[in-house]
Amino acid sequence: MISKDVYAGYYTAPEFQEAVSSIRGVILVCGSCEQHGYHLPLDTDNIIGRELALRIAEKTDMLVMPPVNYGQVWSAKGFPGTISLPPSALKCILREIICSLEQQQVKNIVLMSAHNGNYPILKDFAREIRDEFGWTNIWHFPVAFSRELEAKAQSAPAMMPHAGEAETAMMLYLRPDLVHLDRAVREYPVPPEDFAYRPRHWNEFVTSGSFGDPGAATAEYGEALVEDVVHRISDLINRLL
Ligand SMILES: [Zn+2]
Repeated sequence: MISKDVYAGYYTAPEFQEAVSSIRGVILVCGSCEQHGYHLPLDTDNIIGRELALRIAEKTDMLVMPPVNYGQVWSAKGFPGTISLPPSALKCILREIICSLEQQQVKNIVLMSAHNGNYPILKDFAREIRDEFGWTNIWHFPVAFSRELEAKAQSAPAMMPHAGEAETAMMLYLRPDLVHLDRAVREYPVPPEDFAYRPRHWNEFVTSGSFGDPGAATAEYGEALVEDVVHRISDLINRLL
C-alpha cells in the first residue's frame, strides 16, 4: 500500500505545488521492464525501486515521482517480455521530465537507478544537463548493498547480481505474492572468453536468465537488504542535499 504522504502521483496539482516549496526535492526511480528468470516478474526492478524510494522519501522529506518503468536493457534483449530503450531515448525522456520539474522550482531531483544498466546513463545524463543548463541539483544514486550484508548471503556470488539470491530475497519481503520460488533455477553462467571485448547478449550463454542461486533467498535477508539500502541512501540525502 503506497502512502499518499510521499507519493506525488496521488497529489492533486495544487497540493503538489504547495508541497514543492517546503520539501527537500523529489526522487525519480529509473527502472526496467526486464526478464528476471523463471520465478520473478518483469516488473521486479520497478517494484523494488519504488518500494525503496517510498521508504527513503519518508526519512528525507522528499516526494516520489511516478517512476520511469523502462530502461536500457541491451544485455537481456532476446528474453520474452524484456523491452530495452537505447540510452538516447532514456536520456530524452529524462530530459523532458527534468526540464518540467526545474520549471516548477523543485529544489533537488534524485535519479535513483533501480536497474544496473541505467546507472552509467544517469550519471552521464546529469553531467550533460549540468553542462547545458548549469543545474547542479540533479543527483544520481545507484542501489547497492554494503559488503557486510553481501557477505551474509547463503549462496556463492554469481558473475553479476541479477535474479539471484539478493533480488529474490527483496521480492520475497516486498511482494511474496509475485515470487514463484518453486520455479527458481540455480545457474552460474560462464561467459564466453570474448564477453568483455565485443557485444554479447546474455541469452547466448544464460538459459534461465538468473545469475546465482535464487532458491537460497529468504524474506528475512530481503528485509535486511531493503533496510540497508534505505538507511544508506537516506543518510546520503540528509547529509548532502
Ligand atoms: Zn533486477
